[in-house]
Formats: sequence, structure tokens, C-alpha cells
Amino acid sequence: MLAAMPPPVPPPTPAPGAPRVRERGDACPGALRLHSADDGHLARLRLPAGRLTARQVEILADAAEALGDGRISITSRGNAELRGLADGCGAELAPLLAEAGLLPSPTHERVRNIVASPASGLDGLGTADVQLWARELDERLCAAPWAAGLSGRFLFVLDDGRGDVTGLGGDVTLVAVAPDAALLHMGGRAVRVAAADAPRAALAAARAFLSAARAAGTGAWRVRELPEGHEADVRDVRKALAAEEVPEPVLPQGPPPAPGPLGPAALHVLAPLGRLTAARLRALLPADEVRLTPWRGAVVAGTDPARLPALEAHGLITRPDSPWAGVSACTGRPGCAKSLADVRADAVPGRPGLPVHYSGCERRCGHPHGDRVDVLAAPGGGYLVDGVPVARTDLARAVTTARTAPRTAPRTTR
Ligand code: SF4
Repeated sequence: MLAAMPPPVPPPTPAPGAPRVRERGDACPGALRLHSADDGHLARLRLPAGRLTARQVEILADAAEALGDGRISITSRGNAELRGLADGCGAELAPLLAEAGLLPSPTHERVRNIVASPASGLDGLGTADVQLWARELDERLCAAPWAAGLSGRFLFVLDDGRGDVTGLGGDVTLVAVAPDAALLHMGGRAVRVAAADAPRAALAAARAFLSAARAAGTGAWRVRELPEGHEADVRDVRKALAAEEVPEPVLPQGPPPAPGPLGPAALHVLAPLGRLTAARLRALLPADEVRLTPWRGAVVAGTDPARLPALEAHGLITRPDSPWAGVSACTGRPGCAKSLADVRADAVPGRPGLPVHYSGCERRCGHPHGDRVDVLAAPGGGYLVDGVPVARTDLARAVTTARTAPRTAPRTTR
């Protein structure tokens, strides 16, 4: 059943120290549950590990042109959003996606939130190919009827040991620590499992979370929302698998791959402000597969890195020193009624430095994780840059200074 949903209502803020109580399920949009925005309906398509085959790239680009506004947004989890969809178009979109293999389980479509190191298996870095884990985890997730009870926000993170995705706030994080071993991390505890068991272990951890959430009765959507005394216990994973509890580890932290070549037969590009046109998406082909990334770009596997100049000519970011690298923005006006400004039009390129995120209101949708420059639209037409009022005409100078000035400590890490 396809339905356009009204904009989500922000949850009430719990009193200090009180557990958050969720009265309802999450309102995250999906491919079958569309969100009604000011620029039409929006469909969010979960792509485990961001993966699209060449054929799926073509179908997604065609769908954006035929049913939406011709653009594809990449989310901070490497999912794809189609915007500007007309009333009732869900009836056309769903069969298109299903036929392309992008809707393997209608009941699970919103819970397939799996981020995995996008360059895994391509550039010789990393300890294991976690893209393969992601595929197995997705198959197991879709085959488990109980897993449809996870919220649309619950996130699995699979890191191949390079540490590029460990900081993305996973509810369940798997890290490859040796060719034959992985650490599973959830809620401050960890177990070591055989690499061959890693996807099964992640699923067992999600089940332990659901059991804890039901026992707590607070309707938690995410592990961090579980109240004290009801923590999800990774030791439950030990009951399902031969797993060994380990002291809470320090997870590896590494930078995302830079835009450019990735090994002999792959490359990485970023989408300006996280948005692709259908033409730019098609320009990534020919390729074996495309992996949309949490940094709002695409790793293209099975292609010639010598194509990078041609992709730059298509408007994609192909170099780390591009003035648009590290610049992101929420939807803003005119797509979002809450926005105080057209933040995408106001966003400015500049000297590379800290990531910068422009937001039309305090919700700061889609902001990157970790330290960044925070640019927030203010009433009256100006902005706050890291909390300091700045006129719109002075934005370029203020943002460049904030991105490149030395910082003694991260200011924005949520
Ligand atoms: S952060 Fe941006 S997209 Fe999110 S609600 Fe505010 S204005 Fe809208």
C-alpha cells in the first residue's frame, strides 16, 4: 500500500535524566512510504552499502526523470532520495524498483540501513571485504520476519578495518580486525566473532536490541535510547554464536577515501552538495557497480580511473582540493517549509579545510558526523557560523576562515 506521509513531528524532549519514551514508530520516509515536502513527494530508497548495479543506475536515473524532478540526492547513510514526485506516482515507482531488484522485501524496505566501507575490496586497504558482509547481512535481514520491527533509523555499520565508517554512529558496528575475525560493538560492549559469522552476529545483536527495547517498553528506535537497566547485551550474541566477550575496544578511526583513483580499476567522486542529476548518475557508467557513499559521493568499481577528467567535465568533484569538496547542505527552501533560507543557493565554495554543513533550521538534517563548521540560517536573512552572526554578503569570508583556522578542540561533533 503506497501512501504519502505528512511531515514528521519532532519527538518531545525528555526531562533531564528521564528515559526517552517513543509513543509511535519512526516517521522516516521509504520507497513505499513517501514523505510530503514543499517540492512534492520524496522517496528514500535504502541501498545496503550504497550498492547499485549498472542496470539499477540506469533505472534509478530513468525514474528520477520520469517521475521526479530529475535529481537524486545522496544521504549521509549512502541512500538515494528522489524528490519532486507527483501525487500518486508511488504506484509507478514501486514496480519499477521491484523489477530492478531494489525492493527485495516490501516489509523490510526501511530497515535495510547498512553502511559499509565503500572502497572495501578495491584499493588494497582494509582487512576484509565488508561489501560481501553487507550483502549477506541484507539477505539475512530481509529473511527474518522479526527484523521488520526495527525502526527506519536503526543503523548497521561494517568497517573493513580502515576506520572510515566507525564514526558514523552505528547501532551495531562490525569491524574487521583480522582476515578471520571481527569485533562486534554495540552500546559500549564488544565481542569477537569469526569473520564468517560476522553478518549473523550483527543480526543477533539487532535482535538483542529489539528484545531489550520491548522489555523496556519505551519504544526505543536506537540503542542509545534504551533506558538504564535495559541495555541491549552483546552477551546475547554469545548465546547464538561462538563469540568471545572482549574489553570495550578503541575502534579504528580513519579518513574517508579522497576523491580520485582507487586502485587500478576504481575511482571515487563526490556529488556537489550531495545531489546528482540523472545525467551525472548515468555518466558514472560503464562500471561493474556504483556504491553511493556516506560522504555523498560514489565509488565506481570496474572502471578506468582515466575517466576522472570526463567526470569532472560532468560537474562531479574528482579532486580533494576542489572548492566544493566537504561542502554539504540540507534541502532548505524551497523544498522544506521549515527552512529560513535557500541554503543550497547560499552555500559557498572555498578553500578545502574542515567539512562545512549549511542548515535551514536547527534540526540540521543530514549533517556530517564529527567536527565541522556549522552554518545555520538565522531569522532576517543572515547566518550563524559556529554560532557567530554573519551577514549573507560576508558568508564566504567567514566560512573560509572557520574551515581553515586552527581549532584547539572540536566544536561540533553531534
Ligand atoms: S534542517 Fe533543513 S531540511 Fe531539515 S527541517 Fe530544517 S530546513 Fe528542513
